[in-house]
Amino acid sequence: YNDKFKAKRNPETILYQTVNNYKAHPIVVGKSTSVYDAIVQLFLEDVGTLYAVDSVGNLAGVISRKDLLRASLGNQNLTELPVSVIMTRMPNIITISPEESLFEAAKKMIQNHIDSLPVVREADGQENTYLLVGRITKTTITRAYLEIMDEKSD
Ligand code: ADP
Repeated sequence: YNDKFKAKRNPETILYQTVNNYKAHPIVVGKSTSVYDAIVQLFLEDVGTLYAVDSVGNLAGVISRKDLLRASLGNQNLTELPVSVIMTRMPNIITISPEESLFEAAKKMIQNHIDSLPVVREADGQENTYLLVGRITKTTITRAYLEIMDEKSD
């Protein structure tokens, strides 16, 4: 709360706010969920990206709109096809930690040509095992940009 107040007084610092202050809830599916059900979930939750988690809730994959469109081409049975077959999986997922800045998040999304980042905490001691705690999207960055411009026009 205090951090946000300071940001309002110094617009440039908004981009140096931590991801933790701006993250949204991640929408998750189990990795054995069908592509068909994932598409339904995408519409119901009104998001562009779903995250797949394993049986203990660790991040297992990213499922984007294009991943679902690609899987829908051809005549596969989408109710039988699990998302684990089509998702981008660990260790190829670009992640961000809650302590990193919005500026870092923006850079990672642009450099890797992706629309969102899962916000994760390292699960103790296990390499490439992450607990999913949120998501940052290009919309998050656009919202921060608006905050900056609102402040400048006051
Ligand atoms: P869309 O497919 O809707 O354009 P993206 O540009 O985010 O959405 O996704 C493009 C590709 O990058 C997809 O194959 C997706 O699985 C993958 N992808 C998305 N986010 C990440 C991420 N954080 N780390 C690694 N790959 C990702």
